[in-house]
Amino acid sequence: MATTLSTLAYLVASVLFILALRGLSHPETSRRGNVFGMIGMAIAILATLLHPGMGGGGIALVIAGLVIGGSIGVFVASRIQMTALPQLVAAFHSLVGMAAVFVAAAAFYAPESFGIGTYGHIHGGSLVEMSLGLAIGAVTFSGSVIAFAKLDGRMSGAPILFQGQHWLNLGLGILLLVLVIAFVATGNAVLFWLIALLAFALGFLLIIPIGGADMPVVVSMLNSYSGWAAAGIGFTVGNILLVVTGALVGASGAILSYIMCKGMNRSIINVLLGGFGTTGGTAAAGDAAAGDRVPVKAGSPEDAAYIMKNAQKIIVVPGYGMAVAQAQQVLREMADLLKKEGAEVSYAIHPVAGRMPGHMNVLLAEANVPYDEVKELEEINPEFAEADVAYVIGANDVTNPAAKTDKASPIYGMPILDVERAKTVFFVKRGMASGYAGVDNELFFRPNTMMLFGDAKKVTQEIVQALQR
Ligand code: NDP
Repeated sequence: MATTLSTLAYLVASVLFILALRGLSHPETSRRGNVFGMIGMAIAILATLLHPGMGGGGIALVIAGLVIGGSIGVFVASRIQMTALPQLVAAFHSLVGMAAVFVAAAAFYAPESFGIGTYGHIHGGSLVEMSLGLAIGAVTFSGSVIAFAKLDGRMSGAPILFQGQHWLNLGLGILLLVLVIAFVATGNAVLFWLIALLAFALGFLLIIPIGGADMPVVVSMLNSYSGWAAAGIGFTVGNILLVVTGALVGASGAILSYIMCKGMNRSIINVLLGGFGTTGGTAAAGDAAAGDRVPVKAGSPEDAAYIMKNAQKIIVVPGYGMAVAQAQQVLREMADLLKKEGAEVSYAIHPVAGRMPGHMNVLLAEANVPYDEVKELEEINPEFAEADVAYVIGANDVTNPAAKTDKASPIYGMPILDVERAKTVFFVKRGMASGYAGVDNELFFRPNTMMLFGDAKKVTQEIVQALQR
């Protein structure tokens, strides 16, 4: 009876997780999606605590784990800046990977506790599940640590490439497969740890060649890996809910990676193999021409307010700098004032603007920007030619025409927002620094561009004041 109840509870939790994912696919339903996810998780925890096999000691251990892990989670998440969320996500993925490694080790050394045999005599199927969970978990761990270091600026975002890299990765991948087969055949402890070591190295090697522009795909790919690692753990510990949840995360992460690859005009194989086909082009391509350039034209917030007051169609292009400055609220105030002046205002969202998928949508939703004003790249791009003003606030790479023209550029091939087609383009940023991909942006030097130097929130606030005068 108790087992049936716990299975039923797991089923309800699985359905709630599916509803959570569905809700999270749109800003309007995302809050509800989160609530479904939280209820599902609460049911899953309760069902685990009430599981017939859970003795008093087990309950105490689970509660201790919840209190310690939960407190660390609350502490870290409450202190983290919104702009540091992507690296936090990468760091959390690394923990999921490490958990998979630990569970595999626990199951290997104490198989009786998992009902999968005795030490040295583990069932063949369990050895397969265990080795897969171990390998995927270890790749997820080291890959996520590198992604964290790159996103957090502790390591250069530039691709790290060396001769024969792909052959080395391929060789190690094949070796890993051979080790897994040998481990399943023998159940040998040395092979277990060799798999772990090799998979750690592979995770590291797969992520270091990935350059700035491809990091978004890597983040969602690691998300997917962490899901599969969790599903692997689920098989090992015989927990169906963990299998379902891991598979949901794994599959949705894979789909997101695919969507982002399409958005960035990249082949998923290319990204999965780690910088395959990367030419190693860097900012140098852009810098070469910098010496011949005319000086940039800088304007004041008053100039911008004057031009925008007389504009009929304004397209706002938010980017990472808007997130850093937390300028979304004042940006909406500016848009409200401009709409009162009779202008049509819309927001152009590039699929990789900011530092995590959906970053800009979340910020604009937080500022209650109406959803119908927020448009995706394909929809808005044809509209730039009719726009009087493109207000680029803290965005850089997503507007860089080098993606269309410079084959040596690391962002070559990525679709971009055609802001330069607008009559006037304002770039709100603090200086002439490049964006995440480290590429110069020649748009700053175009005759129809006016730079508005300063913090995005401060500049926009000053425009709001000028508009109110
Ligand atoms: P970029 O990183 O290209 O540019 C952001 C610009 O914002 C910088 O040039 C910076 O210039 C400016 N900036 C920073 N702080 C402020 C501030 N307080 N006020 C005003 N401006 C500021 O951002 P984009 O959004 O255009 O492009 C995203 C990039 O990040 C792409 O290369 C993408 O591949 C990558 N990426 C995206 C991820 C995702 O999932 N969305 C994940 C990982 C990477 P300055 O210093 O001069 O102010």
